[in-house]
Amino acid sequence: MSEAGDRAGLPTVAIVGRPNVGKSTLLNRIVGRREAIVEERPGVTRDRKAVEADWCGHRFLVVDTGGWSATNDPLDASVSRQAERAWAEADVVLLVVDVTVGMTPEDAAVAAKLRGGATPVVVVANKVDGPSREPDVWELVKLGLGDPYPVSALHGRGSGDLLDAVVALLPAPESHEVDSTPSADEKVPAVAIVGRPNVGKSTLFNRLSGDERSVVHDLPGTTRDTVDTEVETPEGRIRFVDTAGMRRRSRIDGGTEYYSLVRALQAVDAADLAVLVIDASEGITSQDQRLAERIDAAGCPTVVLLNKWETLDAEARAQVQLDVADRLHFLSTSPVIKGSALTGKSIHKVLPALGQAVDAYRRRVPTGALNQVLQAAQSSHPSPGGRVLYATQGAIEPPTFTLFANRDIPPTYLRYLERAVREHFGFGNTPIKLRVRRRSS
Ligand code: GDP
Ligand code: GDP
Repeated sequence: MSEAGDRAGLPTVAIVGRPNVGKSTLLNRIVGRREAIVEERPGVTRDRKAVEADWCGHRFLVVDTGGWSATNDPLDASVSRQAERAWAEADVVLLVVDVTVGMTPEDAAVAAKLRGGATPVVVVANKVDGPSREPDVWELVKLGLGDPYPVSALHGRGSGDLLDAVVALLPAPESHEVDSTPSADEKVPAVAIVGRPNVGKSTLFNRLSGDERSVVHDLPGTTRDTVDTEVETPEGRIRFVDTAGMRRRSRIDGGTEYYSLVRALQAVDAADLAVLVIDASEGITSQDQRLAERIDAAGCPTVVLLNKWETLDAEARAQVQLDVADRLHFLSTSPVIKGSALTGKSIHKVLPALGQAVDAYRRRVPTGALNQVLQAAQSSHPSPGGRVLYATQGAIEPPTFTLFANRDIPPTYLRYLERAVREHFGFGNTPIKLRVRRRSS
């Protein structure tokens, strides 16, 4: 975020593009005032401006990065500088292209730089003053940065749709409170520790929360009549869901298996991630299996703990491992940790495993690489139906991809593409979503 953004605690949108494409006009359009000075002369170096804007209650800063300057810099250097500045400062980058000119090598060069970054980029196809310009817009898909937004910065056409897209990409504004709640992109992940009664959930929780030293606070539960606990861990803060019973060392047991299953399922639905605790001394029971199936169906990345491992002899251990492969196959990509909540053995692996799952859940993959993976998958095994022309990651938590296709894509082929994306980008067992949009090309 920019210095300006830090000061105001607002997310920042940077506008980049060649001279004369309409950056200042767009800035004025977005802020709704004549703030920036519109220079008729191309290549005039301007001071960067950060002006505050508001769209449907979302406040943010808009920065005009000033465009390419009229120095004698080689093009590539100035392009890089602008892209880097935009990345460093912004939460969202708007790349403005003038459709009356079309895509130039400079546009392509800056797009290539921007594709490599983690900051989301929206392509603005500017000067689409009327429908007759619309056909020129789709050429800009070739920039590899997703759907271009046709806009007339001068007349306002299309600017509402553009702003809807922009605010959807913005992180929540930072809180001004002293004990600030983390912003949306560092939302505290919610973890459900689930398993049958007596498998060792409370013992595990007490160990992970360091016997209350690291407990940040108890919160009203994510589900009805429950209490959640936020804990500071080396992997960052974690909110453990439905922890009331787990905090107390001696507690009245939660009752029947049925009741605990219902409770576990509610916790899983409220959570981003799950730890499935299994009492390895009892093997994988049908109740464990049911729970695992439901977790899988909820699309929750999961870490499996085979607990009470220290009580098993070699033969029993071998058997349990076979049972895991056999009975929990639908969680096959989940990490499986063998340990003891009681002695603490191997429990140190649980948080890093959760941390990795959180990372994958929040990962944003570069658009260029995404398209390369999909193109490669499609050439090595062509689709029997529609073909993906272009794809972009629209969201995280969970990672969600929009595939633009010329026709419908058969479900089996879509699963093949999903596998390719999952494997290439190491999403592990994190649920990812693929949406197909048809585009006549
Ligand atoms: P910048 O150098 O990228 O900041 O571009 P400016 O905002 O200064 O605009 C350059 C020229 O393009 C000005 O003459 C603007 O009036 C014109 N312009 C900007 N947006 C539009 C638009 O949507 N349609 C048309 N027809 N002209 C525009
Ligand atoms: P919960 O009902 O799933 O929360 O289970 P608890 O954490 O209350 O544990 C049930 C019993 O299993 C307690 O007597 C614990 O001491 C015991 N226990 C928990 N973890 C382990 C372990 O790793 N090894 C052994 N041997 N006992 C454990």
